Amino acid sequence: MPKLKTKSVKAKTKLKIGWFSFSCCEDSTIVFTELLNDHWQEWKEVFDFRHVRVLKSKNVFDEFDIAFVEGAIASDTQAATLRQIRQRAKKLVAIGACAVQGMPAAQRNTFNEEQNKAIEFLLARFAALPKVLKVSEVVKVDAAVPGCPMDPKVFLDTVNSLVNELLK
Ligand code: SF4
Repeated sequence: MPKLKTKSVKAKTKLKIGWFSFSCCEDSTIVFTELLNDHWQEWKEVFDFRHVRVLKSKNVFDEFDIAFVEGAIASDTQAATLRQIRQRAKKLVAIGACAVQGMPAAQRNTFNEEQNKAIEFLLARFAALPKVLKVSEVVKVDAAVPGCPMDPKVFLDTVNSLVNELLK
């Protein structure tokens, strides 16, 4: 497992991190927390975990150096929240297949007429969009970590690259 190359950068101020989950099973969040088992000591010197609900109950939604976004976008409410995250983030990273390509969370996009009829009441109840969207269909994405769940090596490489860019 590659390590974050924090020794190559001198963090004057910590990078503000946000981790957000939309329509998905949140397994990439689990991978993220497993990575913390190995990287917590080095990451706490570099990152301010500003809005990471899986780690803490009191979160701040103001500005982020890096916002990680997991899951697909299934409603106008989710799209509006994602746009707010984009406005507050220097870099936005799509995490996992659902965020990067929509599937498998966007499975209902492939439904036939009969299946669509059967879920009509659910779409109305949850004010869902007619089609589930990948993150890049709503906002600009700076980097993507594919995989279902996300590939830990690509995630670490992406984080390394962004840390080096933002702290240089
Ligand atoms: S990409 Fe896979 S693991 Fe990640 S939220 Fe979607 S279904 Fe779950």
